[in-house]
Amino acid sequence: MKIVIIGNGVAGIFSAQNIRNLDKDVQIEIFTSEPYPYYTRVKLPELISEKLSIDDLIVFKKDWYEKNKIITHLDKNVNKIDPKNKSIIIEGENDPIFYDKLIIATGSMPAIPPIKNAKEMQGKGVFTLRNIENALEIRDYIKKKGIKNALVIGGGLLGLELAKQIKDCNLETTVVEFFPRLLPRQLDSSCSGLLKDKIEEMGIKIELDAATEEIIVIDGFVKGIKIKDGRELQGEMVLIQAGITPNVHLVKDEGIDINRGILVNHFLETTKKDIYAVGDCLEFKNQIWGIIPACIEQSKIVANSVLGKNRLKYEGTIPKNTLKIIGIDLTSIGLFDPEDKGFVGVGWQILKNIDSKKKCYKKIVLKDNILKGAILFGENEAKSYVNNHVEMEVDELELRKAINLYKWICGACGTIYDETVNELLFKNLPEDWKCPNCGSNKEAFRKQIVGSKN
Ligand SMILES: Cc1cc2nc3c(=O)[nH]c(=O)nc-3n(C[C@H](O)[C@H](O)[C@H](O)COP(=O)(O)OP(=O)(O)OC[C@H]3O[C@@H](n4cnc5c(N)ncnc54)[C@H](O)[C@@H]3O)c2cc1C
Repeated sequence: MKIVIIGNGVAGIFSAQNIRNLDKDVQIEIFTSEPYPYYTRVKLPELISEKLSIDDLIVFKKDWYEKNKIITHLDKNVNKIDPKNKSIIIEGENDPIFYDKLIIATGSMPAIPPIKNAKEMQGKGVFTLRNIENALEIRDYIKKKGIKNALVIGGGLLGLELAKQIKDCNLETTVVEFFPRLLPRQLDSSCSGLLKDKIEEMGIKIELDAATEEIIVIDGFVKGIKIKDGRELQGEMVLIQAGITPNVHLVKDEGIDINRGILVNHFLETTKKDIYAVGDCLEFKNQIWGIIPACIEQSKIVANSVLGKNRLKYEGTIPKNTLKIIGIDLTSIGLFDPEDKGFVGVGWQILKNIDSKKKCYKKIVLKDNILKGAILFGENEAKSYVNNHVEMEVDELELRKAINLYKWICGACGTIYDETVNELLFKNLPEDWKCPNCGSNKEAFRKQIVGSKN
C-alpha cells in the first residue's frame, strides 16, 4: 500500500511517524512546497532576532527520513488532487503520482483581516509570519530599510512572542489588539491585566480595543495605522498575527466538503473515500485548532485510520497554551472561564488566588472534582500537575499542595481561612490580623496538611 502525505509540518510528519510505528512495510511519501526538512514554527520569531539560525529550527534531518523509510519530496508544490483516479499532480510536472490513501496536512496561513492597504502592501512594509521565508523577509526588511519602529496587529500568543523578538531587534514596538484585553482566548480579564503590566515593563507598548481599519501609506511607504475610533499610531512596519486560515484550496473543487477547514469525521476521513485530513487544515465539530497538541493527537488517529487498525476516535483536543517569552511564565489549559460560558451552579468550583506582591495569578476550575482548566501566571510549579491532571478527578488536598494554596485552621475555634476564596495569602495578612470568629491571633492558625482532612 502507498500512502501519500501532502505537507511536512508537525501534522504530516507525526502522521508519517505513527504510520511507520504501526507498519514497517507500508510505502510513505511526503510532498511539501517548502525546501526544508521538518522544522518547528514555534521558534520562527527567534530567526528574526537572529538568536537562532535555520539549522537550529530543523527538527528532523535527512537521516531521520532515511531511518524511517519515509520518502520526502521537498520544494514540490501539489497543485491538484484527482480523487477519481487516486492521484495528485505536482506543479510544473505532468505525470500523476498515484496513492492508495492520501493524507492532506497542508496547514494554514495567517489570516489577514479586512484592513485597507494590508494586502496591497504585503512584503512592502506589511508582513505575516508563518514560515522560514517570511522570517527571513522580515529580518532583511528591518535591516535594509533601517526600520526603527513596528506595529504588531494581534495581541494573541503569536503576536506577543513576535513583538518580543522585534523589540529585541531594538525596534520601538507596539502591540495592537482588537479586543479589550490581551490573549482573549487564553486568559480572563484579571490575568490579562497582569500580563499587560509585565509586557509593558519589557518596553513594549500595548493598545487595546483597537480595530485597525487602514494601513497608512505615504509615497509608497508604510507610516502607521488608523484605528476605527480615530487613533493613529506611527510605525514603519506592520506585522499581522491575527489568527489563521486553513489551507483548503487543493480540495475546493474536488467534491470534498469544506467549511472554514476541511471537514472530517471522528476518524479524520474527509467526505471522499481514502482521503484524510490532519492538522491546521481540518475542521471538526465547527472548530479549527491551530495548535501543536491537536496536530499530534490527530496524527495518532489518522495513522490508525489509514491502516484500518483498531479505529481510534477523535473527540477534539483540550487547548494547552504556554506563552514563550523569557521572563514570563504563563500557561492556560482547558476551560478557564466557566462563568463566561454560562457554566455555573452545583459542582463548579474555582480555586483562585492573586499574590499581588509577587504578581502571581493562579486559577483552577473544577467540576465535581474533575480538573477542567487552569490559568497559571508568574509561576511554574503547578504546571506539570495541572498538565497531567486535566480532565481527571483530582484530590483536593493534593491539588492545593500543587498550587500552594492552603486552608489555615484556627487552633482555638476551628475557623478556616481558605486562601482560594480570600484575596490575600495567609502569610500576607497583617501581623495584627485576628481570627474573625474567636479573636485569636495569626499564630493560633495552622496549615492544613496534605493527607489530613483538617
Ligand atoms: C510563529 C509561530 C509560532 C507558533 N507557536 C506555537 C506554539 O508555541 N504552540 C503551538 O501549539 N502552536 C504554535 N504554532 C502553531 C503551530 O505551528 C501549528 O499549529 C502547526 O504548525 C500546524 O501544523 P500543520 O502540520 O497542520 O501545518 P503546517 O506546519 O503549516 O505545515 C503545512 C505543510 O504543508 C505544506 N503545504 C501546504 N500546501 C501545500 C501544497 N499545495 N503542496 C505541497 N505542500 C503544501 C507546507 O509547505 C507545510 O510544509 C505556531 C505557529 C507559528 C507560525
